[in-house]
Amino acid sequence: MRRIVLMLLLIAGATNAFAADKLKVVTTIADLASLANEVGGDRVDAISIAKGYQDPHFVEPKPSFLLQLRSADLLIVVGLELEIGWLPPLLEQSRNDKIRQGARGYHDVSQGVEILDRPTGAVTRAMGDVHPLGNPHYWLDPANAVRIAIQIENRLAELRPADSKYFEQRLNAFKIKINDANKRWVAEMAPYRGAKIVTYHNSWPNFAKHFGLDVAGYVEPKPGVPPSPSHTFELINLMKAQHVKVICMEPYFDLKTPQSVAAQTGAKVVVLYPSVGGAKTGTNDYFQLFDTNIANLMKALK
Ligand SMILES: [Zn+2]
Repeated sequence: MRRIVLMLLLIAGATNAFAADKLKVVTTIADLASLANEVGGDRVDAISIAKGYQDPHFVEPKPSFLLQLRSADLLIVVGLELEIGWLPPLLEQSRNDKIRQGARGYHDVSQGVEILDRPTGAVTRAMGDVHPLGNPHYWLDPANAVRIAIQIENRLAELRPADSKYFEQRLNAFKIKINDANKRWVAEMAPYRGAKIVTYHNSWPNFAKHFGLDVAGYVEPKPGVPPSPSHTFELINLMKAQHVKVICMEPYFDLKTPQSVAAQTGAKVVVLYPSVGGAKTGTNDYFQLFDTNIANLMKALK
């Protein structure tokens, strides 16, 4: 009898020790780690491979990423081929069956969000277009952030049923918090509804749609293709004809072309951060990211 009690105590002890462990979540971009932290709280340890100041299409693989992937319980990806240039070999070499594509520890959040620029014709990466399946920068929309958080909550609860109530409470708190923040952001941006902007890369269609901005053109001729003299010439003409006064650029591109276009059109160049951690300060989480981008944008649009 005593032996059975002792065994039960040991089992209970072992279970508790396991439950106290944090779920190891690896995300491809920092915004997904920020949202995983919102939902997962102190029951998860979420880190991202790409840093917010890097172009998420082109991330240089490092040995440290392999170590992170090897011990991960859950991998959350953007999908739509955003990570196709760097994630597959890392995933292969990590030899972690838990996070293989199709396993319970692999989650592609693109399946449950609003995707813009879906291709209608044949799907191809020809000519360098790095958005062949639709625009992968969909996280830059608070409504999609909620959709992403819901998916993360479902997956965390599946992997750690004992904490499902906790994740549900965190998700509900996040929904209230982002709803309040969104009301503020929409109110701040309301005077600029319909304003025309040019962006360097096509990173902002969801953001622009959410806040009623009109993206008139891009510094890149196609997503992933560097500026060319002929395209820049056309862009300058378009901006003059449509009176576009703001060029938004991501922090990881070369300022040269935007500055030259700005000089010839009287436009302002404003740096917007497409990801959490894009700047040293003011982009520490998803909320700060929007606060900073909206403040920068409003200054430029005034
Ligand atoms: Zn892109």
